Amino acid sequence: MELLKQKITEQGVIVSDQVLKLDGLLNHQVDPKLTMEMGKEFAKRFGDAGVTRVVTVESSGIAVAFATAYELGVPLLFARRKKTLLAEPDMLCERVPSFTKGIVTDILVSREFISENDRVLFIDDIIANGDAARGLIKIIGRAGAELVGAGIVVEKCFQSGARAIRDQGIRLESLVRIASLDGGQITFAD
Ligand code: 5GP
Repeated sequence: MELLKQKITEQGVIVSDQVLKLDGLLNHQVDPKLTMEMGKEFAKRFGDAGVTRVVTVESSGIAVAFATAYELGVPLLFARRKKTLLAEPDMLCERVPSFTKGIVTDILVSREFISENDRVLFIDDIIANGDAARGLIKIIGRAGAELVGAGIVVEKCFQSGARAIRDQGIRLESLVRIASLDGGQITFAD
C-alpha cells in the first residue's frame, strides 16, 4: 500500500534496528482515513474467504480490525490482555511474551463470542516474532473455529514471525513489508 509506505516514511521513528515507533498512525494516534483504507484493502484481499468474524488483540490492532470488520460486515472480537472482575472463569487464555513491554501477558477471549461455526480473520498492527499471532491462533483453534488467514499492517521481514506463520500453511497478508531498519533507515521489501 503506497499511501501507508509514505506515511510510515514521514512519521515512523526508528528506535533501534529492531523497533520502529509508529505512534503517529498506529500505536498511539489513529489516522481514521488511512485506517479505513487499510480495512478496505484487507476486506478486498480476504473478501472471498467467507469470514464470519474478525479477531485481534487489544489495543493497537483494534482500529484496523474494526475497519476490516466494518468492510466485511462481520463482528470484531478483540482479545483482552488482562482479566477483569467480569471475566468468566472458563475464558480461552494463552500466555504470550509482549514484544514492546518485555513481559509476559495473558490474552483472553470469551467462549461466548467464538465457536466452531466461525471462519476467523486475524488482524494485527505489526508482526515481529509472531508471539501475539501464535497465541491468538491457538485460541482460535481451541475454540474449534477455522482460521482463514492473518492480515498484518506492517510485517518486519527481518524477524521470524511472519515466516513461521506462513510455514504453518496459514495465509498471511501484509500491507507493508519492511526488510530492514539498519543504519537508521527504513528499507521496504517491495
Ligand atoms: P510479536 O508478538 O509478533 O513479537 O509482536 C507483535 C506486537 O508487538 C504487535 O502487536 C505490536 O504492537 C508490537 N510490536 C512489535 N514490533 C514492534 C515495533 O517495531 N514497533 C511497535 N511500535 N510495536 C511493535
